[in-house]
Amino acid sequence: MTEPPASQHDEFSGPAYPGHGRPCNGCGVCCVEELCPYALLVLLGPVLGQRFIDRDERVEGPCEILEWDEGRAWCGLVRHPERWFEGGTAELGAAIRKDLGDGTCDTTRSSDEAARADHEESLR
Ligand code: SF4
Ligand code: SF4
Repeated sequence: MTEPPASQHDEFSGPAYPGHGRPCNGCGVCCVEELCPYALLVLLGPVLGQRFIDRDERVEGPCEILEWDEGRAWCGLVRHPERWFEGGTAELGAAIRKDLGDGTCDTTRSSDEAARADHEESLR
């Protein structure tokens, strides 16, 4: 597996966060800041992970599953499902990708209110 750098995101020279609703460019901000539900289930196990999900509890990243390669971040569950699920297939990876926003950034940063407002305006 491609190992993430030991550093946090601000030291990684990946692409800049594009803004909610824009095409995902692999900036990695979402997965560095917080574990998604898939990460909770895979890394904490189904019982504990589900408990966090049910309580809507935030677990800080960076996510161990995140891969840095080709100058950007990738979800390891999507890119290499076989490494995380016994018998994991490309179809499973594709289904997870679809559920995670299907290539569109679904992450909102409180520090990015202006970018989000711009984007929402552009959709009107
Ligand atoms: S979903 Fe958004 S925050 Fe996450 S890697 Fe893609 S562009 Fe970055
Ligand atoms: S790397 Fe994948 S599993 Fe980890 S938080 Fe990001 S989307 Fe979720």
